[in-house]
Amino acid sequence: MDFSSFYNVIQGKLTVTATTRHGINPATAAPNPEVPVSTPADVENAVSAAKAAFPLWAGTPWEERSAAIRKYADALEREQEGFATLLVQEQGKPLQFARNEIVDSVRWLRGIADLTLAEEVVREDDESRIIVRYTPLGVTVGIVPWNYPVVLACGKIAPSLITGNPIIIKPSPFTPYCGLKLAELARPFFPPGVFQALSGDDNLGPCLTAHPGVAKISFTGSTATGKKVMESASRRLARVTLELGGNDAAIICADADIETVATAIATLAFLNSGQICIAVKRIYVHESIYNQFRDKLVEYIRTLKVNSDDDAFMGPLQNKMQFDRVNGLVDDIQNQGHIAVTGGVGMPKTGYFIKPTIVDNPPETSRIVQEEPFGPVVPLLSWSSEVEVLRRVNDTDVGLGASVWSRDVGRAAELARQIEAGSVWVNKHTFIDPHVPFGGHKSSGIGCEWGIEGLKTFCNVQSLFLQKDI
Ligand code: NAD
Repeated sequence: MDFSSFYNVIQGKLTVTATTRHGINPATAAPNPEVPVSTPADVENAVSAAKAAFPLWAGTPWEERSAAIRKYADALEREQEGFATLLVQEQGKPLQFARNEIVDSVRWLRGIADLTLAEEVVREDDESRIIVRYTPLGVTVGIVPWNYPVVLACGKIAPSLITGNPIIIKPSPFTPYCGLKLAELARPFFPPGVFQALSGDDNLGPCLTAHPGVAKISFTGSTATGKKVMESASRRLARVTLELGGNDAAIICADADIETVATAIATLAFLNSGQICIAVKRIYVHESIYNQFRDKLVEYIRTLKVNSDDDAFMGPLQNKMQFDRVNGLVDDIQNQGHIAVTGGVGMPKTGYFIKPTIVDNPPETSRIVQEEPFGPVVPLLSWSSEVEVLRRVNDTDVGLGASVWSRDVGRAAELARQIEAGSVWVNKHTFIDPHVPFGGHKSSGIGCEWGIEGLKTFCNVQSLFLQKDI
């Protein structure tokens, strides 16, 4: 596969646009190659092609759709190195993590292809048989953010396609490259119009969400944009799944193994330079171990390699806007006089790099506690009672993920059950699986993706009543 030129994929064809634009390599600030800027006419063409493909694809047996996704997963696996290298260039994550993302993307495609959404007989007696079945919705649009452009796209592609819905992928303008190549790679495995991709500027997302031919929008991104997507979809009652921002808390209990947990927490807070919706973003440590835990955490983050080497732990932030935003938060911390400790070794002079930063027990009302930083700056907070820490953890309008860390798994599970979040882990965080539903509580989202529950969000429910005694 050629990874140097980039096209929209419409009705199985590689297409160009009159105007083009480019992303920026965040490690160097140098321009990446040109990509299409789709127009409303491109949207029209893609939606009509998807609508035309819908009856055939919806009528294709589940096993055949599953087999096509598996063959596609094999093709992505064969192209792993090309995709990983391109991902480094557009997203900035070090090569070792870019490779992991492609491995996970293949795992997601295969994991979803393993699932079935069987009809359920909910009542059966001499008089009647009542069946609940799931039918595809129509054309779907997958809107993808810039932090995990490949795995998050695959997490929309596979559920849409397996349930019989053609999909149009719209990558982020910051990271359009791998998303376009995913659709290009798919051409031999799916009929024209079933799997398409359009890249564009900020006008493209609203144009797709407003299109009357689009039945469902699967959106991953910020809460602010999610609200706009829902507003647009509401005008014609198009279905939406919204996977939005969070502010995940980790509660470290007094009996936690300080060394092991500090290392794990640092990894889960700073992985992908903190640009993960379910990264640890607020670290609540029991007061009896607070100082020891902080010192271990600081000792560990001082060793983290921050640059664009293949084996670095942290690369740059993905774009200038995010770089400026996170630096603004750091300025706020310094202006407020909260003590921050930085780590990291090997930082280059150019590119959007920010050192891993721990903020030492800032007030609960400070911006760094209240806002999702989406960068490598994390507050460490002290707690004394379970009631108090649960109140602080839940006192937010988002609820994506959270974790509790303790040697007493039973007690930790009791605390976990009281947290208002879509995914709650004990002695783990940021772990996801294609067979497990993923979604947010409160302003972190609507609906869920993945697992059987996720597949259902790509379907209508039909209750079929068969009366036998007539
Ligand atoms: P963003 O909301 O700025 O953009 C996401 C996507 O929406 C991009 O493709 C963008 O082009 C598109 N978009 C922008 N305006 C639009 C509009 N009006 N209509 C339709 N589409 C539009 O988000 P981002 O900055 O790319 O991503 C970071 C955010 O995403 C963070 O808040 C993070 O927590 C969240 N996120 C959530 C999850 C999750 O699964 N819950 C996963 C990753 C990231």
